[in-house]
Amino acid sequence: MGTIENGEIVCIDPKSGLQTSTFPCTPTDKVAQIMDTGREAQRVWSDQTLNQRKNAVSSLHQGFLAAAKEIAQCLAEECGRPAGEAWTAEIVANHELFGWWLSNIDDLLTATPVALNPINYPGKRGHVRLDPLGVIGLITPWNLPVAIPLRAIIPAVLSGNGVLWKPSEHAPRTSALLAKLFNSHLEPNLVNCIQGDGQQGQAVVTAGIDAVFFTGSVRTGRAVQRLAADNGIPATLELGGKDAAVVLADANLERAAQGITWAAFGFSGQNCAAVERCYVHQDVYEPFVAAVVEQTQKLRPMTDVGPLVTKAQLEVVQRHLTQAVEGGATIQCGGTAEGPGYFHPPTVLTDLQPDAQVLCEETFGPILPIVPFEDLDALPDLVNGTAFGLTTSVWTQDTDYGEALGDQFECGVITINNHSFTGALASAAWGGVRDSGHGVTNSRFALYEMTRPKTVVVDRSKQAEMWWYPYNNALLDVTSGLVELSRSGGNRLPALGQVVSGLMRRWKEEK
Ligand code: NAD
Repeated sequence: MGTIENGEIVCIDPKSGLQTSTFPCTPTDKVAQIMDTGREAQRVWSDQTLNQRKNAVSSLHQGFLAAAKEIAQCLAEECGRPAGEAWTAEIVANHELFGWWLSNIDDLLTATPVALNPINYPGKRGHVRLDPLGVIGLITPWNLPVAIPLRAIIPAVLSGNGVLWKPSEHAPRTSALLAKLFNSHLEPNLVNCIQGDGQQGQAVVTAGIDAVFFTGSVRTGRAVQRLAADNGIPATLELGGKDAAVVLADANLERAAQGITWAAFGFSGQNCAAVERCYVHQDVYEPFVAAVVEQTQKLRPMTDVGPLVTKAQLEVVQRHLTQAVEGGATIQCGGTAEGPGYFHPPTVLTDLQPDAQVLCEETFGPILPIVPFEDLDALPDLVNGTAFGLTTSVWTQDTDYGEALGDQFECGVITINNHSFTGALASAAWGGVRDSGHGVTNSRFALYEMTRPKTVVVDRSKQAEMWWYPYNNALLDVTSGLVELSRSGGNRLPALGQVVSGLMRRWKEEK
């Protein structure tokens, strides 16, 4: 993690809480100049063919794989990321991400024809193609410092954009490693990396970019959106979450307990789609809590669950826990943080007040509150009862019922018998509702946010158009005849005659 002092990021090892090194910030007054180099590189890049761009991104893909060990090592040192998480979420998932975009980008960028009925629009053809927006501003958080930027950068550059990227000040070395790869495999300066905190973030939004893609907290997201509006550019926001998992009475309890334990404590809970609330049917509540506690107690500090990345985040977790316990919550396992560094033990809570902070606000840490329910009809109000709406899961063996129940939950992703992993699927749209943001990451829908549809129509007709001047009786005969021809129960034969005679009179008059 890092804080800024005298223009430098002070890097702290979250496993020990001790300073390890410093890293230079990009001076804010240099951002405009860097933006200019990015603009130039983007023009060169977007003039290349898609095949040339794909070749460069394939080479980046290979460079990424070759650097995998170094990246995983950096994630461990800088963010305290357990190797199991670094390799699954940040290496293998991104390898698949490259593969999906490289295999599908030709289809996704293929122009679509404009439908031109030859009677109304003779001699014309047209298509809609996707042009790059230009230079995209990208501001990313620390919790997935490789996957989150790559999810935007790969489709952005394949579709011809440049990127002005401001990674988190809590992962500067990992970001610098990626930036080096971008510069050696893509057009130099196409993806520029601006190191620093919110000041550099603001400098990126105001640098003359064509759109901003932001992932981070609600508060910063709102500030970025306001600044984007002042600068007349669109903002895509991927913000916080308070994901619920709903366990029905017929669920496979063992698997549900395993899956929910992972989804709550993976990334030490520092995952926008971590399970932060679990609602369990009364009939299976006790065995489910026992199974989750058993799973949780097996987790090994630093090997299965890493530290929180910042002291501030640890304090939020402690505050939520203290407030819950003061309200009568029972700690089933885990409890108070005793270090080392910013480690907090994975904690299971029961007996919560409905308005406990830990059930209502984003905790972003390793606490799993479990709440029993009896009435299925009460679930939508429970699940939809926070400001967030990122993902929700339903655990049941009746998957049709699970899907139907899921339809009642207001969020961007519903999973039945699993949780959170779809963020790693390049073909699956990822995004939230309400305070979880707006806009999409991954899938063709993300590409639409990075491109501008451009319609091109070519007209080889020698005739004047039907709708041009003069507005005479012949024109009215043609148009009313066409409507009569299409009307169910219309008088078709006379209508056809009216259209033909109208057209002939019109052409004759025009000559
Ligand atoms: P954050 O909002 O503190 O910072 C995010 C980024 O914004 C950082 O790079 C930061 O330097 C920059 N920034 C800070 N102030 C800025 C400003 N005024 N203008 C421009 N940029 C500014 O978030 P964080 O603590 O790094 O990340 C955790 C948050 O991210 C959590 O709320 C989590 O839920 C959310 N998140 C959401 C998703 C998603 O897909 N929805 C994914 C990951 C994380």
